[in-house]
Amino acid sequence: MVVSGIEIAVERKAIKHTHLSVFPPDARVHVSAPLDLPEADLRSFLVSKVPWIRRQVAGVLAQPRQTHREYASGENVYFLGQRYRLVVRTGEEPPSVRVAGRKVVLSGRGLEMREAREVRIFEWYRAELKRTLSRLVPRCAEEAGERAPIAFEVRKMRTRWGACNAGKRRICFNLALARVPLRCIEYVVAHEIVHLAVPNHSLLFERTLDKRMPRWREARKELNEFIALPMEGG
Ligand SMILES: [Zn+2]
Repeated sequence: MVVSGIEIAVERKAIKHTHLSVFPPDARVHVSAPLDLPEADLRSFLVSKVPWIRRQVAGVLAQPRQTHREYASGENVYFLGQRYRLVVRTGEEPPSVRVAGRKVVLSGRGLEMREAREVRIFEWYRAELKRTLSRLVPRCAEEAGERAPIAFEVRKMRTRWGACNAGKRRICFNLALARVPLRCIEYVVAHEIVHLAVPNHSLLFERTLDKRMPRWREARKELNEFIALPMEGG
């Protein structure tokens, strides 16, 4: 059943009360309804619950994923918006990560434990994201007419893609940005740099961002859709 654009799985059961749930990790909406509840009544109940459903969906999608990953050969790895196949090769050389075609190859010594593989993958994500940001941040700052230098750091963040401390001229970026397309990273950089001048999300903020990045709304939408992809471990 589709209610206000939301796909809801309906299950009829020998129960007395209707029960509505939103399940992680993909915010699947499920309703268990009594066998004799008329379709029209079920629909109006669900319509009345739409604001609640939307809040639950947003909450579930904002949570870091709990899915357990092994970081073993065959798993998917997202990098700059592309999906790669992970290949792990143990060897005697110091561990390294490289992209080869549609694969991300993690190779070297000391990769027998899951934790070691995870650490290497996230070191690689961090280094790559820092490299991208050291190019984007100064370029975007210059376009914005920001003269004094801007410091940035990359951190694991739970709910935000970026955070700007205008007083300290310091921007914090979410490590999970390493997984999303470049234009989405550009949007987050442009967004945080506007915050150096405009602290809130007012009309002035939007107008300023419109000038810097006319298609930022598209990039934001794409970024939010990306949250629905596996984010575990980050
Ligand atoms: Zn903001």
